[in-house]
Amino acid sequence: MKSVLPRLEISLSQIRHNAQVLSKLYGKRGISIMGVSKGVLGEPSIINAMIQGGIHSIADSRIETIEMMKNAGLSAQFVLLRTALSQAESVVQYADISLNTEMATLKRLSYYARAHNTIHQVIVMVEMGDLREGVLPGDLFRFIRQARLLSHINIVGLGCNLACYGGVKPDHKNMHELSNLVAAIEQEFQFKLEIVSGGNSANYEWFHHAEDIGRVNNLRLGESILLGREALNRTAIPGLYTQAFQLVAEVIEAKQKPSLPSGDIGQDAFGNVPRFRDRGVGQRSLVALGRQDVLTSGLRSADALEILGSSSDHIILDSNSHPLRVGDEVNFTLNYGALLAAMTSPFIKKQFVANAGYMAA
Ligand SMILES: *Cc1c(COP(=O)(O)O)cnc(C)c1O
Repeated sequence: MKSVLPRLEISLSQIRHNAQVLSKLYGKRGISIMGVSKGVLGEPSIINAMIQGGIHSIADSRIETIEMMKNAGLSAQFVLLRTALSQAESVVQYADISLNTEMATLKRLSYYARAHNTIHQVIVMVEMGDLREGVLPGDLFRFIRQARLLSHINIVGLGCNLACYGGVKPDHKNMHELSNLVAAIEQEFQFKLEIVSGGNSANYEWFHHAEDIGRVNNLRLGESILLGREALNRTAIPGLYTQAFQLVAEVIEAKQKPSLPSGDIGQDAFGNVPRFRDRGVGQRSLVALGRQDVLTSGLRSADALEILGSSSDHIILDSNSHPLRVGDEVNFTLNYGALLAAMTSPFIKKQFVANAGYMAA
């Protein structure tokens, strides 16, 4: 009997392997890993694979996902990556640590931590140039001074996030600057910052080349655990699996067709006026998977078939090199955006598989 289509095949052993290799690689130089669960919506089996791979801290941007993971019985330290003032009460209830940049939010967290008879731990994010979240370095002393006056908040670390909005690369200069800020804060306020969280999957290259990693002792990794790649150039990390996820869909039409549409050309389904190159008549396959299911631009055919285009419900493949028949299955690999969308789609079934897979050399 055939499995359901479309489906996302997930290899838990490959994810566990990736988590293990990365924990060891970074651990050798004193860097602990937070496994970031948002790319897979906190799917408990996948997060459990990260935990089995030696990751003891799980981070997500949504408090609802953290609540779900806790209720699913996962045992780890939970870190909230994005904190909203309106959710302060759930944050202190479900997250052990949250990343923060606003005093109003910290005050609210302290208020609810007190109400729930707990001390909430906070990592203060510093703006290091990427212009997403972060307290400006010039405001940091004042921010920390005020935060330390809050009775039920404990500042446990500093962090920064790069390569997300501005595309700023983590490098020796900005990582060194973060370390200097850590030292200056400790000197000024006479307490130790236990966690210095230097970034995400985009920090691989910096780490790989750094002679001195300074005070950085933590990274928050999603993409490199799940997809085996660093996030600056999307280069595969040696020894990791890059295809732990594969999307499988069904061919619903296979025909010889011309490569040029006939008739007057207006807008396509998404408001673009398409252009085509004449390649003569060729074999095309229509796949029952579309933009309603997944970010089709983030897919690659596992058999190197060219994706000619996509609409809400279809992907059109050039299948000249690989004849396909109606009812055949085609496999796609996914980037982070496509993975996120596929995990969210109610039309795509998730299936855990054992497969040998491909490991980056
Ligand atoms: C999503 C996110 C991460 C993980 O990023 P990857 O590139 O997937 O490793 C880390 N930190 C923050 C603040 C995030 O929002």
